[in-house]
Amino acid sequence: MPVITLDLGGTRIKFGLLENGQLLASANIEVPSSEHFAAVLPIIEAQVGKMIKETGAKQLDDIGMAFPTIVDSDRMRLLYKYTKYNDANDLDLIGWARAKWNAPLVMENDARAALVGEWQHGAGTGVDNLVMVTIGTGVGSAALVNGRLLKGSHYLAGNLGGHMAVNFDGGRCNCGNVGCLESEASSWALPGILKRLPGYSDSPFVPSTRDEKPDFEAVFRLAAAGEPFALSVRERSLEAWATGILNLVYAYDPERVVIGGGVMHSADVILPFIQNKINHAAWLPANAVEVVAAQEPDWAGVMGMGYLALKTTQKH
Ligand SMILES: [Zn+2]
Repeated sequence: MPVITLDLGGTRIKFGLLENGQLLASANIEVPSSEHFAAVLPIIEAQVGKMIKETGAKQLDDIGMAFPTIVDSDRMRLLYKYTKYNDANDLDLIGWARAKWNAPLVMENDARAALVGEWQHGAGTGVDNLVMVTIGTGVGSAALVNGRLLKGSHYLAGNLGGHMAVNFDGGRCNCGNVGCLESEASSWALPGILKRLPGYSDSPFVPSTRDEKPDFEAVFRLAAAGEPFALSVRERSLEAWATGILNLVYAYDPERVVIGGGVMHSADVILPFIQNKINHAAWLPANAVEVVAAQEPDWAGVMGMGYLALKTTQKH
């Protein structure tokens, strides 16, 4: 029987209908901005209904949902305020899935779902010790150790790579801490970081000069052309990511690190830099850890959630 899975992002939801690990149908829809997840549920119901009809599925095995927040994947509840919808952890989503499709609901953090997707279908195949890091608007992470997805006593294990400090003297993060990897090198933090760095006032990022957008696309493009301020921002960002990823390597001792996210348009610069840093880390044997790009950057979460949904319901 098929499984339908959802990967909920900040502004879009990706849907997949999977059977035996194969993605039979997919959709990527924009969700109108709303404070209330309750208002999004009818949109989800309509899309799921459409996919069931299109593929002729009779009954679903499971509904799987990956959320960008901390998830209790034993009791299937969200544990922290969902970054976008502040009512999501008060809704009875298990009851909703049961009432709509007579199917069990399986939930997991989105970085863990993406890790499992890469492990089963992408850049993580063939290893049982894997770390995944997604660098985009924020920084997400997850860890697989000896073939087990790490969760820990508060469902945090492996997920907080973006909030491990890489600079105790750094800027304030949106989590309240200082110098997190996210607040030192992610898309949401970049405009503020640029303004704090020496040389900003003469840089192309000052509005009214050359008016470059304060994003990593511009940083990497200008750095490749030799622009000095962009070069220094690029070096600083690479050092921050490499430091954060080496911390995760020391914590979880993987054979491979998979990196995904928007900045991987510049994978040709990022991968060798981080690989070199890890190759020179004193505590690791030579060539112990491979650093690779995600292979399923768009559908890893949907596919991984399919694997997790089946595995979870088979256990019960
Ligand atoms: Zn933080």
